Amino acid sequence: MARTDSGNKASASGASRKLVRDVFLGFIRVHILHHAAKEPIFGLEMIEELRRHGYSIGPGTLYPILYGLEAAGALCSRLTLVEGKNRRYYRTTRAGDALLAELRLKVREFVDEVLEPAPRSKVGASRRRRGESATASD
Ligand SMILES: [Zn+2]
Repeated sequence: MARTDSGNKASASGASRKLVRDVFLGFIRVHILHHAAKEPIFGLEMIEELRRHGYSIGPGTLYPILYGLEAAGALCSRLTLVEGKNRRYYRTTRAGDALLAELRLKVREFVDEVLEPAPRSKVGASRRRRGESATASD
């Protein structure tokens, strides 16, 4: 974490905005995989879907994410002619489906910890406290 000399809490500094953006970009990737696992999706549709959820991102952000997920083998794409124009549809690959399943577990665990009221989490938390790093244990 970068240290700042203003100790004030509510300042939406550039650094904190970037942090929020980085977190959102992770959410957006999970969101894309979630939809692409259900049906073929295309860029503009996904931009509108994300907007519906309160994420305003443009093509300049979304398309590199789609390309990145495809390059990583999580998505595959196909050009389809729609009303005289080529549209690129994306679906998850088998690897993408497996990744999504893994991410869903992580999201559930994360939500349980971050959103649940504290008292109940004691048993699970003490068992898992040491193992929460990003590396899988097996
Ligand atoms: Zn959605």
